[in-house]
Amino acid sequence: MSTALITGASRGIGRELALRLADEGYDIVVNYLFEEEDYAGTVAEIEKKGVKAIAIKADVSQFSEVEAMMKQTVETFGSIDVLVNNAGITRDGLLARMKEEDFDAVINVNLKSVFNCCRHAVPYMMKQKHGRIISMASVVGLSGQGGQTNYSASKAGIIGFTKSLAKEIGSRNITVNAVAPGFVETPMTDAMPAKAREEVLGSIPLRRGGTVKDIADAVAFLASEQASYITGHVLSVNGGMYM
Ligand code: NAP
Repeated sequence: MSTALITGASRGIGRELALRLADEGYDIVVNYLFEEEDYAGTVAEIEKKGVKAIAIKADVSQFSEVEAMMKQTVETFGSIDVLVNNAGITRDGLLARMKEEDFDAVINVNLKSVFNCCRHAVPYMMKQKHGRIISMASVVGLSGQGGQTNYSASKAGIIGFTKSLAKEIGSRNITVNAVAPGFVETPMTDAMPAKAREEVLGSIPLRRGGTVKDIADAVAFLASEQASYITGHVLSVNGGMYM
C-alpha cells in the first residue's frame, strides 16, 4: 500500500485532495495545525473508504516539526510516496501598509514549508527510489496581484523551487510538479468582499469559479502512473483566468 501526505488537509482544497487520493487507494496522512474538529471529520471520512488514515498536528513553517511528521509517517506506514504541499495562508494588504510580520508569515507558511517538507521527505523518497511531489502554487504566482505582494511572491517562489528540485532529483525517479489554481470556492476565498468576488468571476473565460474537485482531479493526475514522464511542470487549473 502507498502513502500520501497532504499538508493543510483539515478543510478546503487539502481536505478534498486527501479524500481523492484515498479513492485512488493511498493510505493518508492528514496534516493540520489548528482545526481539530475538521481534521477528525476528514480522517473518519477517509477511513470509510477502506484505507488507513492518521492526522498529524504540525506547523509546516517549522523545520523540526516537519522532520518529526515525516518520521512518524514512515514509522506508521513504511513510506512517503506522494507529498502534497498544500497548506497556505493569506495576509493581504497594499505594500505601503503591509506589516513585516504579515510578509514573513506568508513566506514562512507558504514557501519555507515547501522547503521543510521536501527537505525531510526527499531522503525517504530517494531510498524508496520513487516519489511524487506536488505543490500548490496559484494563478497570482504567475500573473501578480495588487494587494498580494507577499502571497504572490510565495507562490512564484514555489514555482522556481519546483523546477530546480525537479532537475536535482529526476534521476532518482522522483517527479516534482506544481498546480496553480485560479479562484476556488473555499474558506480562504469566502473571506473576499462580495464585489471583488463578482469582478473575479466575471473575468474568467469559463464563467465559473473552480471547485475543489477541479483541483483534486489535477493533483490525482500528477500523482498517477499516467503522469510518470511529467516533471518541473506548472499545471494551471484556472478556467482561463490567466494564460
Ligand atoms: P484554506 O481553506 O484556508 O485551508 C488552508 C489549510 O492550510 C488548512 O487546512 C489549514 O489548517 C492549513 N494551514 C494553514 N497554516 C498552516 C500551518 N502553518 N501548518 C499546517 N497547516 C496549516 O485554504 P484553501 O483555499 O483550501 O487553499 C489551499 C491551498 O491552495 C493554499 O496553498 C492556497 O494558497 C492555494 N490556493 C487556493 C486558491 C483558492 O482560490 N482557494 C487559489 C489558488 C491557490 P488548519 O485547519 O489547522 O488551520
